[in-house]
Order: sequence, then structure tokens, then C-alpha cells
Amino acid sequence: MIVLKFGGAALADTKNVENSINYIKRVKEKNPIVVVSAMKGITDLLLDTIDESLNKNYEKTVRNIDELRLKHEKVINDLVKSNEIKKNILKYFEDRCNELETLLYSISTLQECSEKSKDYIVSFGEKLSSTMVSSILSDQELESVQFDGEDLIRTDSNFNNAYPDFKETNILINKKLGDISSIPVVAGFIGSNEKGHTTTLGRGGTDFSASILAYCLDAKEVWYLKEVNGIMSADPKIVANAKSIEKITYDEVAELSYFGAKVLHPIAVHPLKEKKIPSFVKNVYDFDFRGTEIVDELHNGNRCAKAVTSIKDISIVTVQGKGMMGIPGISGRVFSCLGKNKISIIMISQSSSEQNICFAIKSNQNEQAIKSLKEEFTIELHNNQIQEISLKEEVSIISVVGSGLKNAPILIGKIFTSLGEKNINPVMIALGSSELNISFIVESINVKDAILTTHNNVVGE
Ligand code: ASP
Ligand code: MG
Repeated sequence: MIVLKFGGAALADTKNVENSINYIKRVKEKNPIVVVSAMKGITDLLLDTIDESLNKNYEKTVRNIDELRLKHEKVINDLVKSNEIKKNILKYFEDRCNELETLLYSISTLQECSEKSKDYIVSFGEKLSSTMVSSILSDQELESVQFDGEDLIRTDSNFNNAYPDFKETNILINKKLGDISSIPVVAGFIGSNEKGHTTTLGRGGTDFSASILAYCLDAKEVWYLKEVNGIMSADPKIVANAKSIEKITYDEVAELSYFGAKVLHPIAVHPLKEKKIPSFVKNVYDFDFRGTEIVDELHNGNRCAKAVTSIKDISIVTVQGKGMMGIPGISGRVFSCLGKNKISIIMISQSSSEQNICFAIKSNQNEQAIKSLKEEFTIELHNNQIQEISLKEEVSIISVVGSGLKNAPILIGKIFTSLGEKNINPVMIALGSSELNISFIVESINVKDAILTTHNNVVGE
């Protein structure tokens, strides 16, 4: 049995859905379990509709729901031949859209939408797409059953970013899918907590759903189907000679995903690594291309980096003061203050003189970060033990990833020499203790040049 994961782009419209259906047909002998994302743009549309309802923009809310329904209906009308199947699925869409309308109307009246309600609403995207795909398979005489993620993945109650309880999930998945003979089509991204309330696994969470299913069912392989040739060594829009990577380790993929390359959901590889399940990132439009294989270890004495990736819209916060040395637990206070305010830190550096701490955050959290730190350190700022809490905007993080970095100290030198030659000054540097990753921050205007020069100097097979 293999797990096939189709992202939103592979289901964007009739043509893409048809291609995905044909893909499933070609591997049907392998007993595929299909996991799908919402159709392209639908999750964003649902989130946007929640905002419109909160703004009492009822007309736009209704228009959005219509758009969502029509998108799905069009695919069904184009691809399904059986009148019976068509009637049932169109009725399902109608019922679900009516439910959505009622929910959004309540939100608009109450002027409130909890994280829990948001998850419930957003889950409609995957429920509709999975039901759509399953109906089309049935129409083509491939026996198929649709599953909502709630019935399969048990999670904690961290709405929007829930984490699975693997023990419970294992029981649920094996009970429902253990010896299924038809093709299951599972709504990705969704789970439920112990009370049965809908949760979601974070944006891009369908990758994680696919890995969880593979883990619990001891799948032979997992195929993540994308619209590109596997995992690339850099963004091809920036680096024209970026290549598709043949083999990469689970750890390298995890590093890449954390650092902006939208390869897979950042924790999707964790369960796969644990059971060493062979995984591939493949091109859904090129069946014969092998794609990128994700493996546990590479034994080729590799002395190059694998890929370069970047995160934009970053700011650096600096807490600085000559008196900081004497204040106990200052870093602890900085980080717990940010944690309490749900601000996540992407990169940290502290000089050994202890006179400043710098860290990088997403720019949309700037205001909140500065405000909460100034509150936390009111006394120290007043006493001049801390002189400044400042912000540097319009910077980007660049990450060079690869297990080859471990064995090749010369690579680190090469990275910074090549930047120097281009007159690019890194404003912050962090060498991850995993030794798989060197990250540095440059001004955003230099980011393209920095990626190009780093890629050309240190990336190879
Ligand atoms: N539909 C969800 C999202 O857009 C989950 C996914 O696509 O994996 O984030
Ligand atoms: Mg998506």
C-alpha cells in the first residue's frame, strides 16, 4: 500500500483534477490511499470569508460561498457521467454550503469567531475536495470511500496547529483503513480532539496527514505530488540553473521546510523518519520522472550543500544595554515574554559580551514584539540597564542546508567569501547545532544576489 498526497494545485480545476484522477488510476495496483488538500485557493477563501463576516460584509460572504460551490460543481459537471452520482454530490455541496452560510451568518451576528470555530469552517475545503475526488473515482468504476479527517486523526486541542496523539490515531486509522479494499480518499489537514471537535494541523497540514497515515499503516511508500520536479536546490524563479535533487535526507527536508522552502509541512517528515518509510516528492504532471527520494542517510561522503532557501518579511529585534550582564535571566525573560505573546523566534544570536541579544521574527509581529518587550523591561529601561529595544526591518533570512556541511568546514568559508565578493554584508549569522544548516540575514535588497552567489558556489550533488 502506498500513500498519495495531492496538494491544492493538483486539484485547481477540471484539467488538473482529471490529471490527478488519471494518476491514481495508473498506480491502482499499488493499493493507494489518497490524501487531498482543498482545491487551490479555497482555504484562503474560507479564511477571507470569516473576516468578511466579522466585518458584517454579508454580500461578499455570500459571493465567496457561491464561488466555492461553483468551483466544485464545475469539476463535477465536467467529469462525472452518472446522473445518480452527480445528483448526490451536488446535493452534498449544496448542504455543506448552506451550513457554511448559517455558520458565517452567526459569526457576523455574534461578531466573534474562536480558533475552534475557524478550524471547523476551514475544514470544509478538504471535506469538499475529498468528496469530489472520491465521487469522480466511483464514477469511473473505481470503488472509493471518502473519509473526513476527524474520524482518523486524534489531536490535542491546539486549534489551528494541532498535534496528533499517535497512539489513539493509530487505533482509529487501523480500524477504519486497516483492511480496506476500495480506494480511500481522505480529507487532509483535519483532525479532531478528544471531544470530537474539529482541529486543523496548521497551514500545509495535508502533508502531515499523509505522513501520519503512512506511519500508522506502515505504508510501503509515500508520494507527495507537486507541480514541480521534486525538491529543487533553490527557487527556480531566482536561480535559473536550480536543479531537482535526486536524494535528500529526512533531516535535510525538515531543515529546508522550516526555512521557507515550501517543500513539505515542517514536521511532516518526523513520523516517516521514525519508521524509515521511503518517500518521494514527485511531479504530478510527469509520471515517469522519479522525483526526489527522501532517505534516512546518504553515504556518499557528500561535501556540498544541498539547497539554498530564504524567508522574506523578517525583522531583527535587538535588546541592548551595558547593564544587561548584571541582570539575571534576561534571555529567559525575553523569550518567555515573546512566547506568552505567541511571537515565534526564527533565529537568535547573542554576543558573548552579553551586551545584546538579537533575534529574528516575522515582520507582521513587529509591533506586538516591541510593545510587549518594553512592558516587560519597563524598570530596566528606566534604570538604563537596558538602553534600547530596537528593530531592523526589511531583511531576509537565507539558509544553506545540507548534511555535507558537517564534513566540509571549507564550505562555511566559501559562503562568506562569495558574499564578500558581491559586497553583501550578513547582518546576523547562526550556525545550527544540527550542522545541517547555516543561516544568515541580509538586507532584503540583496537577497536575490546572495541566493545566486551562494547557490553557485556551494551547492552540488
Ligand atoms: N488546505 C490547507 C492549506 O492550504 C492544507 C493544505 O493544503 O495542506 O493550508
Ligand atoms: Mg493548500
